[in-house]
Amino acid sequence: MDLAINQTHGMVCAHHHLYSSLARGMPGPTDPPLSFLNVLESVWWKLDQALDLDTIFWSAKLGALEALETGTTCIIDHHESPNAIEGSLSVIADACAEVGVRVNTCYGVTDRHPSSNYPPVSMTEGARKGLEENRRFLSEGGRGMVGLHAAFTCSDETIENAASLAEEFNVGVHTHVAEGEIDVAASDRLHSLSHDNWILAHGVFLEDDHEIQGTIIHNPRSNMNNSVGYAAPKRFKNPVGLGTDGIGADMFDEFRIGYVRLREEDITESPETVWEMLEVNAKLFPESQQDVVTWSYPEIDPWHLAFSLGVKPRDIVISGEEVMKDGIVMTVDADEVRSKAREAATRLFKKIDNLP
Ligand SMILES: [Zn+2]
Repeated sequence: MDLAINQTHGMVCAHHHLYSSLARGMPGPTDPPLSFLNVLESVWWKLDQALDLDTIFWSAKLGALEALETGTTCIIDHHESPNAIEGSLSVIADACAEVGVRVNTCYGVTDRHPSSNYPPVSMTEGARKGLEENRRFLSEGGRGMVGLHAAFTCSDETIENAASLAEEFNVGVHTHVAEGEIDVAASDRLHSLSHDNWILAHGVFLEDDHEIQGTIIHNPRSNMNNSVGYAAPKRFKNPVGLGTDGIGADMFDEFRIGYVRLREEDITESPETVWEMLEVNAKLFPESQQDVVTWSYPEIDPWHLAFSLGVKPRDIVISGEEVMKDGIVMTVDADEVRSKAREAATRLFKKIDNLP
């Protein structure tokens, strides 16, 4: 397919959490977090506990809409909702289908409920249910992978079960890896099970010569926001793609922030280094090549885009279907999705407030 200079194929967000779209404005922790683990415990592990199938649906639908509005037609999602596991992946797939966005999702299996010792010693009921949801979704033909939260919140038994389930369905495992120092043992525990089709989010605390196979997904904005440090992704032999870790799905914006963070380390660097990560993303979701985005800016080129802010899609065609025309989303009523999502967020925040 020939593209004009103001066109690209569909953008791919290679690590997203659609369940976090309603998080903006949620009740914050009473005390400021002192560590990455504090952030997980006081923000994300509260949000995910409060999710039910209805709030998952509106969160995913809003996230899919916002992805489309930034030219992202393919999302690689990592989901967790410990009190609403069964059916959750189908709810996400349905919400994305209504918007017209392609999604590859998975349930992030973990033993951290109810355990709080890291790493947990044995597989919990929560992990069993998570594995079962991955199996149910994949066996019903869902587009997905097998999710693992992160090695540090999983027993060896759970990690082994996730890896073998993925092999059974000929898909990869999608997991966080060494995002914070607490997960520094991840490479020792994962490398012998890993394959090229695994997705490894973050890798901040991975050794340069770690032996985990798979594509590392760099999430520069999220890493800065969580104060975990710079992943310096050029040091890895693995392919490196680009994700948002749930902070929207605007890949041009993530590209810009990835570039300035890289350039901060090294004046000789070029935007092309981070642009290549978007090409790795395209390989992870090959259907993105069937999609065409026509942009508001006349020249889609890394050196232009690194310094041209606010570039938006004008028209988007996904697999031959016009899903955006003149900047207007054609598949759903965007205002209605936003207003329903706001109502769902109010319900969700009440549940978060009432958590034990
Ligand atoms: Zn993540």
